[in-house]
Amino acid sequence: MINEKTPAGDDVTMQIDWDKAIDEILADKTACLRCGNFTEEILAGYTREPWGADYAPRCKSCTGKEECDARKLVIVCAKCAQELGLRARRVDQQTMMGMLLNDCRKDLEECLAYLAEYWQEDMDVPPEDADKRLEEFAPELYAEEDEARRRLEEEYLAHHRWYREHGQRLPDPGWRGDYAEEIIALGYTSLLGD
Ligand SMILES: [Zn+2]
Ligand SMILES: [Zn+2]
Repeated sequence: MINEKTPAGDDVTMQIDWDKAIDEILADKTACLRCGNFTEEILAGYTREPWGADYAPRCKSCTGKEECDARKLVIVCAKCAQELGLRARRVDQQTMMGMLLNDCRKDLEECLAYLAEYWQEDMDVPPEDADKRLEEFAPELYAEEDEARRRLEEEYLAHHRWYREHGQRLPDPGWRGDYAEEIIALGYTSLLGD
């Protein structure tokens, strides 16, 4: 996703109020993101189709919705899911939070892999520059990557707070430590570190 420059990596200026976004979606009775009807039955499913960007909470600040080909978690009512032809299943709040958290983690893992290695393939770095770090080789791209990663880390912290505030157990809590160790070992800082 990051190396394909999908909108998640492009919208460097937008800030998401994740607590608010999540609260809106996950109130016990919530409005369908498509039709606006209040419903207790919420369905969640994935699509790469650009239309999904309008109904995907993690694409809220996506600046390229028309061509967004990221794998998006779309959250709508049953009627809308049917009209859209979305492969979706009924989810409760906890399941949906787990899906959002998991997607956020996957994006952070991609950031990590990109910083560690993939950027060299992505930019077709000549062998004589193979020892360089991304911030030396392409400072502007690095700044974009760094900003995108920071926003994902902020999102992660918002998810984390949600679990704490709702007295629920965070799935796979060791993930955070593993991620932070790796990013710090690469010589970068992280909001998820110590
Ligand atoms: Zn609907
Ligand atoms: Zn998007």
